[in-house]
Parts: sequence; C-alpha cells; structure tokens
Amino acid sequence: MANNDQLEKANFRTLVEADGNDRVQERLKVIDVFLDTEEHVTIEQMCRLLTEKGYDYDAGFVRQCMNRMVDLGFAQKKHFEGQPIRYEHKHLGRHHDHFICTKCEKIIEFADEDIERLQIKIASEQGFHMLQHRMEIYGLCSECLERRKALIPLAMAKTSERIIIREMAGGPSPQARLASMGLRLGDKIEIINNTGQGRIILGHDCTRLAIGRGIAQKIMVSVADEDKDKVCQEET
Ligand SMILES: [Zn+2]
Ligand SMILES: [Zn+2]
Ligand SMILES: [Zn+2]
Repeated sequence: MANNDQLEKANFRTLVEADGNDRVQERLKVIDVFLDTEEHVTIEQMCRLLTEKGYDYDAGFVRQCMNRMVDLGFAQKKHFEGQPIRYEHKHLGRHHDHFICTKCEKIIEFADEDIERLQIKIASEQGFHMLQHRMEIYGLCSECLERRKALIPLAMAKTSERIIIREMAGGPSPQARLASMGLRLGDKIEIINNTGQGRIILGHDCTRLAIGRGIAQKIMVSVADEDKDKVCQEET
C-alpha cells in the first residue's frame, strides 16, 4: 500500500506541477496526510491531521487542494445524509459501498460481488446501461445497537425503530397511566415519527397514537428484535 501511495504522490506532483500552481510543496503535504488516513475525512478533520503533523494551513487552502484531488481522480467527495462533506481515497478500478451509522456517524465500507452483479442484472433487464452507482445503507452500527439494548426513554427512540414498552417511571400508578393511553407493558410499538420536538407518533395495534414528549420521557423502552417482533400482525 505504501508503495502505491508513493506512486500516487508522484503522479499527483506531476499533475499539480503541470497545473502551474503555487505552493506545490504544501499541496504535496496535503496529499501526504490524505493518503496516510484510511478514514472518510472532512475538511475540518484534514486540517486537524495537518496541524498534528505541524502544518498549519487554512481551511480554504485545504479545501482547494482536496477538490483538485477530486478533479484529478485521487479523491472522491462523499456527501452522506446529515453529515458534512467527506473525502476518501479513489483507487482506480476498486469499488465499495457504505454503511452509515446515524447515531455516531461511523462509516463502514463493504463490497459484495453478489450485490454488484445483481445491480447490473436488474439494470440490463430494464435496458439500462449502468455507468456508476452508490449504495448507502443508513442505520445503527453494532456498538450503537448494543448501547441501545439497554432501556431508553421512549422520547429517545428514533423514527422507524421498533420498541417494546418495559416500564413506566414515576407516579402512583404508572400502569394505569399507560392504560389511559391505550398502552400496556410488553406492547410492541413502531415509532412512526419522532422529530425530537413535540408529540411522538406511534404505531400500535395497527393504529396511530400521539404521545406527549413529557410523558414519553417517563416511558422506558427497549429496542425490539426487528423481524421477530412484528408491530402490526396480519390476521391469520
Ligand atoms: Zn456498489
Ligand atoms: Zn454508531
Ligand atoms: Zn468509502
């Protein structure tokens, strides 16, 4: 890999010199630091990495270098939903896709031949000639999922998440309060909408319920096992 990096750097130097740019040495430091990381880095993270190496370049210069690397095919720009723009290596002839954790923003790469083949097959069945694609799968990484197995207040559950009501904190007869909302301990619920503000919309027994945020802080839930715990059972 290090050898490959040396080649990429020499390649970059030639192209940058051909550009007739100033600050060539500084541009080479930026690509050095970029090639050294295997992360999907933001401009801010790039600046931090450069500072750690003793190079104090302003964000504008770093952004300009990164964008030039994208133009020259050394880097690719990624804009994952809800995150700042990131840059990653572009290795010629190699492709991968991404899992994106919506909780800790971790990005995990994967490559799967079956998925790639299937995409080409589906496209060709539609008479579509595929040039490129990107597959981004959003969800929770294994660490974030593990943390979520513990009890959390209903108010913290995410949209689309399936949860089980475990306990009701506070008040003299918590179960009666739950019952007044049409809920019981052990009920399986789908979060239809939780924007982080105002009421939370739940799917329960094939109907929708709106629960106030205050009360949702007191209802403790755990994350359900996706497939085993269906919220809305079909009649059998
Ligand atoms: Zn792919
Ligand atoms: Zn995570
Ligand atoms: Zn990647």
